[in-house]
Amino acid sequence: MQQKRIAIFGSTGSIGKQTLEVISAHPELFVAEILTAHSNDALLIEQALLFVPNIVVIGDIAKYAVVKKALEGKPIKVFAGEEALEQVAAMDCYDFMMAGIVGFAGLKPTLTAIESGKTVGLANKETLVVAGDIVMRIAQEKGVHIIPVDSEHSAIYQCLVGEQNNPIEKIILTASGGPFLGKKPNFLVNVKRDHALQHPNWSMGAKISIDSATLMNKGLEMIEAKWLFGLEPSQIKVVVHAQSIIHSMVQFEDGSIKAQMGLPDMKLPIQYAMAYPQRLANKFPRYNFDKPNLLSFDEPDLKTFRNLQVAIDAMNKGGNTPCVMNAANEIAVYAFLKNRIGFLEMTDLIERTIDKIAFISQPSLDDYFESDGEARSFAASLIQL
Ligand code: NDP
Ligand code: MG
Repeated sequence: MQQKRIAIFGSTGSIGKQTLEVISAHPELFVAEILTAHSNDALLIEQALLFVPNIVVIGDIAKYAVVKKALEGKPIKVFAGEEALEQVAAMDCYDFMMAGIVGFAGLKPTLTAIESGKTVGLANKETLVVAGDIVMRIAQEKGVHIIPVDSEHSAIYQCLVGEQNNPIEKIILTASGGPFLGKKPNFLVNVKRDHALQHPNWSMGAKISIDSATLMNKGLEMIEAKWLFGLEPSQIKVVVHAQSIIHSMVQFEDGSIKAQMGLPDMKLPIQYAMAYPQRLANKFPRYNFDKPNLLSFDEPDLKTFRNLQVAIDAMNKGGNTPCVMNAANEIAVYAFLKNRIGFLEMTDLIERTIDKIAFISQPSLDDYFESDGEARSFAASLIQL
């Protein structure tokens, strides 16, 4: 395999840091070419001094001077601001984008990479939730591979290797159930951010941790799967599997089900996407069959975790509804993280925003950006009341 030049968008995040670990473990195969951060200038500087990429971008323009000064005398170009993210995403100097920015902010740079013909390792699921139809169409036109990094979608992608001519009957997305599995609304009404951030199986960024606690994450993943694998909503089933050992499954037309298994460690799907189609040897811990193990499967509790039902309804409705839902969810999650609203109020905020914003059945990219903006303003106005 030729050495791949990697651009990590969101290098200071959970996905970004683990991508750098994979690069460190395989310096002959990967080199960090571009690193981007939003607000964490200190970590970006530390990473830049260690990996000496060609380019770094700091999203927050106010931090440009600090980063520039710290990297003075190094062969590293420093850019700042939202537009710089897009300009850099269009550059020739890299081969593979790790799309590790969180939220709607990841959409533009990821689309730019796709338009520029780059292979994308997609962690930023919001890109497909918001504008999956447009993103997948452009990827197809450009002949670009979007390789999922989200563990469930990586699992499905791996199950589909060699099955090009075999239609999918159904996919089964596994859900850990998050930190509040089995809890009821009378418990959830009082939960606070620190408890909600404690995921039993995965260590992740704050936003996706809250999404996992509300099960919105699984809803976002259903929509992500719909676009990635060209499925009808009726072909996507969610099963609660608390141990997070089976990362997801594909059921074929003969009734056979393929599963991808392993210990929960995001470095595995990250490495798989970066090295695809090759599998690289590593020292990650292995699943142990010598101990007694119980793998369980259960129905999700849609009545308690209403965000999942809201997301299923949004997926079925289509148009700009998933985009609006995503925007309201981002506002709700950040308000919850700041203790401004309660755990269960997040769903109310999302539902009220979906009801308010005008439905567009076949949105253009501009429509998506407008719907996102309107939904954010409306959701934020509800919190200030
Ligand atoms: P983190 O919050 O840990 O990291 C987010 C990254 O995005 C940081 O580098 C951050 O910069 C940057 N960022 C934040 N806001 C902006 C912005 N407005 N513009 C540009 N960059 C921004 O998130 P995760 O790594 O957990 O998640 C990243 C994506 O991957 C999400 O979409 C998530 O759903 C998905 N994902 C994550 C998994 C995980 O295990 N973490 C698993 C599966 C999917 P800074 O910190 O400098 O402000
Ligand atoms: Mg996932």
